[in-house]
Amino acid sequence: MVHGAMGERSKYDLVMRLALERGFFMPSSEIYGDAPAGFWDYGPLGVALKNKFIELWRRELVKRDDMLEIDGAQILSKNVFRASGHLESFVDPIAKCGKCKAIYRLDKLIEERTGIHVPERASLEDMRKLVEEHGIRCGRCGGELTDFSHFNMMFRVGVGVAGLDAYLRPETCQSIFIDFLRIYKTMRRKLPFAIAQVGKSFRNEISPRQGLLRMREFYQAEIEVFFNPRKANDFPKADPILDYKLRLQPIGEDSVKDVSCRDALESRLISSKLVAYYLALIQQFYEKAGIPREKIRLRELDEDERAFYAAEAWDLEVETSLGWIELVACNNRGEHDLGGHERLSGQEMTVLDDGERVLPNVFELSMGIDRSLYCILENSIYLVNNRIILKLPPYLAPIQAAVLPLLSKEPFKSEAMRIYRSLKQDFDAVYDASGSIGRRYARYDEIGVPVDITIDHQTLEDRTVTVRFRDSTIQLRVEESDLMNFLRDHVKIR
Ligand SMILES: [Zn+2]
Repeated sequence: MVHGAMGERSKYDLVMRLALERGFFMPSSEIYGDAPAGFWDYGPLGVALKNKFIELWRRELVKRDDMLEIDGAQILSKNVFRASGHLESFVDPIAKCGKCKAIYRLDKLIEERTGIHVPERASLEDMRKLVEEHGIRCGRCGGELTDFSHFNMMFRVGVGVAGLDAYLRPETCQSIFIDFLRIYKTMRRKLPFAIAQVGKSFRNEISPRQGLLRMREFYQAEIEVFFNPRKANDFPKADPILDYKLRLQPIGEDSVKDVSCRDALESRLISSKLVAYYLALIQQFYEKAGIPREKIRLRELDEDERAFYAAEAWDLEVETSLGWIELVACNNRGEHDLGGHERLSGQEMTVLDDGERVLPNVFELSMGIDRSLYCILENSIYLVNNRIILKLPPYLAPIQAAVLPLLSKEPFKSEAMRIYRSLKQDFDAVYDASGSIGRRYARYDEIGVPVDITIDHQTLEDRTVTVRFRDSTIQLRVEESDLMNFLRDHVKIR
C-alpha cells in the first residue's frame, strides 16, 4: 500500500488529473488559443456531482429551515448596483508596469513580496507608500509601477439596441433583496424567515487561477435570513442545536476550538441565537457533504477583513493541500441591503412584526459551489497502489451503481442489461461489459461509484448478485428481489 505516500501539494494535481481525464470539469473553449482564463465547463460527471450537492443543500438548509427559493435574472439594472454599493466599492486595487504594461493586483503583489497583510480598506495612497518603501517593481521586467487605480470587477453589458448600461450580477443575492417585499406578501411570511437562491455569478477577476477556486463565472448558493434585530435572541428554533459543537476560531485566536452553541452564546463569542443556529446548520451541512469535522472551521473576521456594513462575520473554511479555503461567508449585513434599495428606489421596505414596524436586518450564508465541490473531491480522493479511489459519500456519487456482467457473453450480458434497466428508473446506474472485472471495478472506484453489482454464474442458479463495496472492497450476495431496497438504503442521506 502506498496510502499517504503522496505529497500534500500533489492532491491538487490529482484532483485536476481526475477532473480532466474523466470529464468532471475542463477549461472552457480549450480548443481555442484566445480562451480567457477563469472559465470552466462541467462535464457529465461534474454536472451530476454538482446537482447532488445542490440537492443536499436544498434538503439540509432550504427544506430543513422552511426557506423560500427563488431564481432571479442574471442581468440587473445599474441602479441595483448603485444601491448595493457595488458600483462604487466592488473594486480591486491595481497598478501597471510603466515599461512592459503588465497589470498587477496591488494588495496581493505587496503581500507576496513583503509578507505584509494589506487590509481590505487600505487606500491607494497607503499602497503606493508600501511599494516605494519596499522597492517593489514589475516581476517580469523590473520596470517601475505606475497608474495606481481601482478596477471594478463587474461585467458591464449593453441591453437592447440602445446598449443600456446593465451588469451581470457579481453575487446572486441582489434579486432576493429587490424581490423581498413581493415574496414576503405573496408567501404570507412573518419574520424571521429566509429566502435562498442558486445560480451563476460573474466577476471580472484580475488574475483567475487554481481551477475552480477563483473563476470569472461561477455558481453560488445564497441564503438571506430576514429578521427583527431586536429579536435575534427570541429564537426558539435554536433550542435543539444548543449542545451542538461549533468549530470556532474567534478574532485574536490562532487555533480552532470546539464550543457548544450554548457556551458560545453565554461567553458572547456569538452575538445571538439566530446567528448560532445558522452557523450550526452550515457546519452540519459540510459534515454531511463528506468534509471531516477537524478540517472545518468557522473563522471570525476582524474589522480589517469584513465588509464595511457587516456587524459580525464568520467564514466557513475547509483545510486542503492549498491551505484553508473560504467556502461560505456568513455575514450579519444589518439593514444595509433593504435600506439601500429603499433609499434609491423609493419603495418602502419595512414590514410589520407583532405590531412593530421594522426594516428587516439580514444574516447571510453565501456559499461558493464550485470551490465546495473542489474541497469535497480533494477530501475524497485517495491513491492506493497507484490507483485513484474517490470515496464520496454515496448520496453525492455521480453514479450510484455499476451493473457488470462477469463475462462479456450470453446469458450474462442480457441478465445484466435487464437488471440495469430496472435499476436506472430509480438510480443513477451504468452498464459496462468491456474489460476484465478487476479493470471495471477500478474504472468505477476512480469516479466514486459506491457499489458494483456483478451478474455471475451463481446469479443464473439462484437469482442473487455479487455486490462489491468501493471503500472496503468487501463483497456479499444480495437477492435480486432485494436489490432496490438495498441500494436505496445504501445511497440514503445520513
Ligand atoms: Zn514590466
